[in-house]
Amino acid sequence: MQDQLRVPSLRRLALVPEPYPGESLLSWVNALARMNRVGRLQALRLAGFARPDVSGYRPTVHFGASLTEETTARVQAATGLSAARQQAMTLTHYAGGVLPAFPSPPHWRTAAIWLARLHLALSVRSRVCPACLRESGGRWLLRWRLVWSFACVRHRVYLLGACRGCGNGLRWVGPGPEDAVVCGQYDRSRQGRVCLRTISRMRPPRLSDPHLLECQRRLDRLVDNPRGDGGRAILRSLHTALEGIRIGYDDAPSLPDTDAILHRRWHGHGGAL
Ligand SMILES: [Zn+2]
Ligand SMILES: [Zn+2]
Repeated sequence: MQDQLRVPSLRRLALVPEPYPGESLLSWVNALARMNRVGRLQALRLAGFARPDVSGYRPTVHFGASLTEETTARVQAATGLSAARQQAMTLTHYAGGVLPAFPSPPHWRTAAIWLARLHLALSVRSRVCPACLRESGGRWLLRWRLVWSFACVRHRVYLLGACRGCGNGLRWVGPGPEDAVVCGQYDRSRQGRVCLRTISRMRPPRLSDPHLLECQRRLDRLVDNPRGDGGRAILRSLHTALEGIRIGYDDAPSLPDTDAILHRRWHGHGGAL
């Protein structure tokens, strides 16, 4: 009854973008904001992510990890997008696949704990392939948040994890310019001014090692089809290896001969994946 009372108070939006294949929820919200010529916060309210009876709504930094049933019902009422299509844009889409089963009941706090424990997905930020971003018109893919995504096999580049201008990690869920291809983060080295570098024009390092390209190709297949041939066993081995690196980084063996860029990252990450 409560839901019935709450849902009609939302107006049905006339302009709702079609989700881009594989798009992340935040990217879709930004597309909705652009289409309706409003800011991101206003778009979140119009689309039903905020409860109409709550003022001063702000998305948590974990926005896009999961959605509650209550939220999906409101968003469906406001945008017409089904709960299943909304969930497909959140990290729960990979739960029980390349990510472990999601804790229940889904709440942003349990989602936050789940993500923090996992180290298998970027909980706040996203990597990006600038060329893909150009082609999609600024739509960000959900899979770029998985640790299994390190390269784009189509453009043969490493994904970018940080802005080439200010050095901040990309895609923090905060207020700022809603332009999907502008960094928009505060640049500490320039008295906190907003960084206006265009992400889709940044040049990521080329990936020339054919073994690594093949590795990403296989990981992509695993992400899309985790229950395929031997998928479970491969994932188990990958999780164990990742855990081993995280815990015993100091004893990690040196990398086999591969791209110099990878060696720099390997020596620079300090055990934090
Ligand atoms: Zn690409
Ligand atoms: Zn920047």
